[in-house]
Amino acid sequence: MQGRHVRGWAVWGLLALWLACWPVRAEIVAPLVLEPGLEAQALAPRLGYYHDLNASDSVAQAFARAHAGQFKPLPEGSPTFGFQDGAYWFYLPIVNRDPDEPRWLLAQEYPLSDFVDVYLRYPDGRLVHQRSGDHAPFASRFIRYRFPNFRLDLPTGQPVELLVRVRSESSMQVPLVLYTPRAFAELMRDAQFSTGLYYGIVIALLFYNFVLWLMLRDAGYFWYLFHVAAFGLVLFTLNGYGFEYFWPDWPWLADAAVPLSICLALIGMQQFARNFLELRQRWPLGNRISLAFVAFFVLLGLASLRLPYSVSTPLASRMVLLGVVWIIIATVVMLRRGYRPARLFLLAWSLFLAGTAAFTLLAFGILPRNFWTQNGVQIGSALEMLLLSLALGSRYASLRNENIRIVQQANEQLERNVVERTRQLRTAMAQLGEANVQLREFSRRDPLTGVYNRRHFREAFAQALAERQGSGRPIALLLLDLDHFKQINDGHGHLAGDDCLTHAAGLIREVAEPRGGIVARFGGEEFVVVLPDTGPQQALQVAEAIRLRIHQAPIACAGHQIRLSASIGVHAVAGVGEGDTPEEIIRLADAALYRAKDEGRNCVRHAMHVA
Ligand code: GH3
Ligand code: MG
Ligand code: MG
Repeated sequence: MQGRHVRGWAVWGLLALWLACWPVRAEIVAPLVLEPGLEAQALAPRLGYYHDLNASDSVAQAFARAHAGQFKPLPEGSPTFGFQDGAYWFYLPIVNRDPDEPRWLLAQEYPLSDFVDVYLRYPDGRLVHQRSGDHAPFASRFIRYRFPNFRLDLPTGQPVELLVRVRSESSMQVPLVLYTPRAFAELMRDAQFSTGLYYGIVIALLFYNFVLWLMLRDAGYFWYLFHVAAFGLVLFTLNGYGFEYFWPDWPWLADAAVPLSICLALIGMQQFARNFLELRQRWPLGNRISLAFVAFFVLLGLASLRLPYSVSTPLASRMVLLGVVWIIIATVVMLRRGYRPARLFLLAWSLFLAGTAAFTLLAFGILPRNFWTQNGVQIGSALEMLLLSLALGSRYASLRNENIRIVQQANEQLERNVVERTRQLRTAMAQLGEANVQLREFSRRDPLTGVYNRRHFREAFAQALAERQGSGRPIALLLLDLDHFKQINDGHGHLAGDDCLTHAAGLIREVAEPRGGIVARFGGEEFVVVLPDTGPQQALQVAEAIRLRIHQAPIACAGHQIRLSASIGVHAVAGVGEGDTPEEIIRLADAALYRAKDEGRNCVRHAMHVA
C-alpha cells in the first residue's frame, strides 16, 4: 500500500515534469460532477476538444484520442471558433450525484450547426447515439425547440462519457449547456417571451408601416417594409425558428435561407437609405455607390443558392458590416450637407451597426459570448427599426411642413403676381384710354391740315347751337374759300398746293382759336370757323383778321413766294330761335361767300347783306 503510494507519487512527479516540458501534449479532461441542486451547467469551461481536420475519425478513434489526452481545453473557455473545416470533437466525462435528477437535457445553443452527434458511453460499454442539427430533420430533436437538444440519461453515481461531434459549414460555435428538465422548461419560457417580444415589435412595425404605406404610397415606406421583413427573416433563420416553423423538412433551405435573407435585407436597407437620404437628387455619386451595393447583393443572393454556405454566408455577413458602414458614411455626408432628417437615421443605423458588429465578431470568434453579443443583432435591430420608423415619420412631417411652406410661398408669390398684373393692367388700361383719346382726336382731325374734319365740325356745331338754345347768346359761322387755288395747283404742283392748305389752316387757327373759334376743313380748299358767343360785328372782325393774316403771310415753296388770299362768308345768329338750323346757317354763310367771290375775292361778306 505504502509502496504503491510512493510509486504513484513518482509517476505523478514524472508526469508533472513531462507536462512542464510539453504542456499541451497530454491533458486528461477532468470529469464534471453534477452535485444535487445544480440545475444548469455550461459545458464550455470543462470540455476538451479536438479538431479532426479531415472529419475522418470514427467514434472509437475519438474516444481513444480522448483517453490518450489529445483533447485540449477550449481556448480561453470560449466555444466559438469561427468558420472552420473538418469536424470538431468535444469530450467530457460526467458523474451525476443527484438521485432526483436521473435525466438531463443537453442543448446546443447555436441553431445553425449542420450536424451535431452526441455519444454517451456507459460503464457497461453501452453506446447511445443521437443526431441533430439543422441538416438533420427537425423531428430528430428531443424537444421541439429552436436549439438542437438531446436527452441524456445519467444514472446516479455512474461515470458516463459524453462525446460530441460537430460538423458545420456555418460558424463553429458549440455553446453546449446541460439542463435539468425543469431548468430547461424555464429557459424556454424566458427565451420564448423575449423572442415573442422581438417579433411582436417587428410585426407591429411591419403592420403599422404597411398601413402608412397603403395610405401614403411613399416609396420610403415600401423599402422600410422590405428591409424589416427581410431582416426579420434573417433573425428568424439565424435563431433557428425558420427551420422550426418554415422548413422543418428541408434542411438544404436552412443553409440557403441565411445568405439569401441577408442579401434581401441588405437590398432593402440600401434602397431604403437611398430613398430616405434622397441620394439621387442630393448626392449622385453616393447614389451610384448604393446602387452598386444593391447590384452586388442581388448577384450574391442569386449565387448563394449555388455557392457553399461557408463561402456565401461569411461574405454576406462581412457585407452587412460594409453595407451599414457605407450607409453611415452616406448619412454623415448628408448631415454635413444640412439634411436634417439624417440625424435620427444616423442614430438608428449606428445602433444597428453596434449590435450587428457584436454578433458578427462573435461569429468570427473575436468577441466573447454573452447576453449582449448573443442578442446584439436583436437589440440593435429592434432599436434600429423603431428609430427608422420614427425617422420616416419625422421625415414625412418635415416634408409636409416643407410642402406647406412651399404652398404658402407660392400663395404669397401668387398674390404679389396678382398685384403686379393688376398694376400692369391698370397701366395698360390707362395707356389704352390715352390711345383711345388720341384715336378719337385723330378721327376728328383732318390729316393734311391738322384742323378738325367736317364730321367733327358738324357735331361741334350742332352741340354749340344746342348749348345756346334758348339763351339768346350769339353764334357766328365763317365759311372760307381760298382764291384761285386751282391755279396754285396748276402752277406749283399739288404738293405745293397741299403745303399752302396746311399753311393757311395754321394761319386761320392762329387768329380764330384765341377767340374761342373752332376751325375745321369743310372740303377741298374750303375751311369753316364756328365762333360761339360771337355777334355779327365781332365775327366780321375775326373774318377780316383771318383774311388779312392769310394775305399778308406768303408761303415759301420750292424757291417761290406764294401769296394766298381767301374769300370769307360770315353769318351770325344773335336772337332767340332765329333761323338757327345748322343747314340754314351754312347756307347763308355759303351765300355770303359767293358774294365775296363775286365781288372780287380776297374780301369778307356778311349774310345779312344778302337780304
Ligand atoms: P375760286 O375759288 O377763286 O373761284 O377759284 P378756284 O380755283 O379756287 O376754284 P375751284 O373750286 O374750281 O378749285 C378748287 C381747287 O382746289 C380744285 C382742286 O384741284 C384744288 N384742291 C381741292 N382740294 C385739294 C387738296 O387737298 N390739295 C390740293 N393741292 N389741291 C386741292
Ligand atoms: Mg372751292
Ligand atoms: Mg377756291
